[in-house]
Amino acid sequence: MIEFKNVSLVYPNGHQGLKNINLKINEGEFVVVVGLSGAGKSTLIRSINQLVKPTSGELYFDGEDTLKFNERQLRKMRTKIGMIFQNYNLVRRMSVLRNVLSGVLGRTSTLRSMLGLFRQEDIQLAMESLRRVGIEDKAYSRADQLSGGQQQRVSIARALTQKPKLILADEPVASLDPPTSHQVMKDLKRINREDKLTIIVNLHFIDMAMEYADRIIGMRAGEIVFDGPAEEVTEKT
Ligand code: ADP
Ligand code: ADP
Repeated sequence: MIEFKNVSLVYPNGHQGLKNINLKINEGEFVVVVGLSGAGKSTLIRSINQLVKPTSGELYFDGEDTLKFNERQLRKMRTKIGMIFQNYNLVRRMSVLRNVLSGVLGRTSTLRSMLGLFRQEDIQLAMESLRRVGIEDKAYSRADQLSGGQQQRVSIARALTQKPKLILADEPVASLDPPTSHQVMKDLKRINREDKLTIIVNLHFIDMAMEYADRIIGMRAGEIVFDGPAEEVTEKT
């Protein structure tokens, strides 16, 4: 589903964020990328939807080299990729439901999204997504009235409402306490299992990675230094 072929990324200041990455990720995998802060995890994950653009190589999504995409093709691809951030990126003053509904904006008409009118089926899907992460009772609360863990679940529900082919989660638990972190990781894992949805998660704790990942990718200084099943990590470290 995703393939990096000799992908490198040099930031405008000359810093090399990715060094010759070769990587294949198959549909339905639950992959955790681990490494210290600054290792390049974010750069790797964000290059998949081109929030940052690699400077060389080939990067395939569903068989197409996305580095050759024009703006229209990029927009279309991004509607298929749900993104979860460390700081949730919700619109704080809007209701939870309205935040979750913004997940459908990519695939609804411009007029509908401009007017904020949503189809009944989209509202049902948004409520169903909230139910799946256990916070449907918060649908009409303002986003900033929720705890951090609840806000992160809203952002997962928003990603689900996109009907994505892939979810990228960039340090989704870095702002949460350990019990809440585990709940969020369990939600992501369950969604991966139930929907056979490909999910890539960045974490900086190896213990948590080993607990949830099917496959672990270890990064250091812009390079992949480990790639294998979670069980192999203990043998090598
Ligand atoms: P991680 O997610 O593992 O913490 P990042 O991918 O955020 O790592 O960053 C990898 C390296 O690239 C770091 O050294 C970081 O400082 C650098 N970097 C990230 N973004 C930029 C940028 N926009 N310009 C220059 N350097 C950057
Ligand atoms: P994280 O490690 O959580 O990915 P950072 O705090 O490293 O986040 O980076 C936050 C933002 O600053 C990102 O948008 C990243 O691209 C940018 N950034 C990081 N390092 C640099 C850098 N050396 N020069 C310019 N921008 C940077």
